Amino acid sequence: MSGRRGDNFFPDSRGDVGNFGKVIWGYFKCFCLSSFVLKNMDFSGIIVYMEETKNYKATIGLEIHAELKTNTKMFCNSRNDPEEKRPNINVCPVCMAHPGILPVINKEAVKHVVKVGLALGGNIADFTEFDRKNYFYPDIPKGYQISQYKYPLVSGGSLNGVAITRVHLEEDTARSTHDRGNYTLIDFNRAGIPLMELVTEPVVKSAEEAGAFARELQLLLRYLGASDANMEKGEMRVEANISVAPKSQTNADLMQTDAEKIQKLGTKVEVKNLNSFKVVEKAIDYEIKRQIELIESGGEVVQETRGWDEAKQETFSQRAKESSHEYRYFPDPDLPKLKLSEISDFSPEVLQKEMPELPWDKRGRLLKDFGLKNETAELFVQNAELGKFFEDVAVGKSADFVKLAANYITSDLVSLMKNEMKAGQCPAVADFRALIEMVVSSKLSSRGAKDTLAVMYADGFSPEEIAKTHGLIQESDEGKLKEIVEEVISLYPEVVKDYKDGKEASLQFLIGQGMKEARGSANPQVLKELFLAGLK
Ligand SMILES: [Zn+2]
Repeated sequence: MSGRRGDNFFPDSRGDVGNFGKVIWGYFKCFCLSSFVLKNMDFSGIIVYMEETKNYKATIGLEIHAELKTNTKMFCNSRNDPEEKRPNINVCPVCMAHPGILPVINKEAVKHVVKVGLALGGNIADFTEFDRKNYFYPDIPKGYQISQYKYPLVSGGSLNGVAITRVHLEEDTARSTHDRGNYTLIDFNRAGIPLMELVTEPVVKSAEEAGAFARELQLLLRYLGASDANMEKGEMRVEANISVAPKSQTNADLMQTDAEKIQKLGTKVEVKNLNSFKVVEKAIDYEIKRQIELIESGGEVVQETRGWDEAKQETFSQRAKESSHEYRYFPDPDLPKLKLSEISDFSPEVLQKEMPELPWDKRGRLLKDFGLKNETAELFVQNAELGKFFEDVAVGKSADFVKLAANYITSDLVSLMKNEMKAGQCPAVADFRALIEMVVSSKLSSRGAKDTLAVMYADGFSPEEIAKTHGLIQESDEGKLKEIVEEVISLYPEVVKDYKDGKEASLQFLIGQGMKEARGSANPQVLKELFLAGLK
């Protein structure tokens, strides 16, 4: 391994392991006393959710992995670069598991997971360690994955009202490519990248709720800067464990052991490789239907891992599911145990101070402070940059101004940002504020404001300059407009007569002529009032 400093931690702390002996034993005792914890240690990953489908209850489990954003990999100084296109570039003896290597813990990865735990209101473990999960697969030829088994970094917490079982830290495997004929290509750039795994409790009620949970988690990971969590890039991966059973035999209160769960809730099937939120929802719905139909026709659900076939819009069998005891977990002897309270970088109190405003807090604040509509607030929560721009523009302004600003941002500006060359860039706050002020004070019509904004966005001039240059400033000077009104009234005596005889539409014609005379620059409200006065 090179001497280059990445964000790795404890490069020479191998000898510290023994210092934690007493602590380990204490935790082990606590652990054994808690049947609740043991019961929840089924790492095949259940998040269960119940859905009522006719006479059946579906129990669905989700397990979510997210690649963490760090400079280097989980246990070595190889770069963590998801954009690297050349295969097997970011590798070293550690992530290739050559003999004699010594892994070191990536500090940034631990901090990311602690922050996720804080955001979820979970219990941050004071003692934690890494374990070897032993299995061989072409994408992990070293024969084990470093993960966390008994002592996950985070236990408990909730998101979107869904209770969370645990969040732990592990390393990713290599990427396999299967579409090159009769062989598989392996790219080890991904091997050893820090991976967060989150497992929830069985409390989600529908496929939609599962989708909403995954979306909110993605948002949280992005707010925390913990992961880009793009599902299509595999940076966030959702797996669902799904089972169905007749309603009459499902009673969550009576469930004690995994065996009883299977008996009561049905055999669970794991669906993997769900690479979008839509697919998560579709696969869950499909699998509930498939299992009910299977049981109804006298068949039996097999415990297995299934994939999602996008072309056929159905799940398909991949392999029989391994159970956790086959992995022969044991603590990794090359890594130090961590006692978080003894490491100031990992202290929850310290990390709490680095926490940004969380998505749900921002949502509530935007609704309360600015009186936004739900969908507007949601847009500003989802698009944090746009949200910040809105707040910079709206802070300290009147309710009318805020409403107008929100409207122009969500409709006109968003469409300009999508379509123009400067895609994604917000205009200068001062210019945008000036534009909205011009609308509030009737200097610009709604049409004029849209045209001004388009030029302002493309060329960056101030709205006053643009409106003047393009003759978009509304004329509200009553003296000037009065002359126009008098002229129009004298030009169309017949129409004036019609109006006085009760033909309301004639007024619109006269106003139209007045507007034409003013070359579109007249304030329509002022113009109308002058006509009404002039026609009395
Ligand atoms: Zn490496």
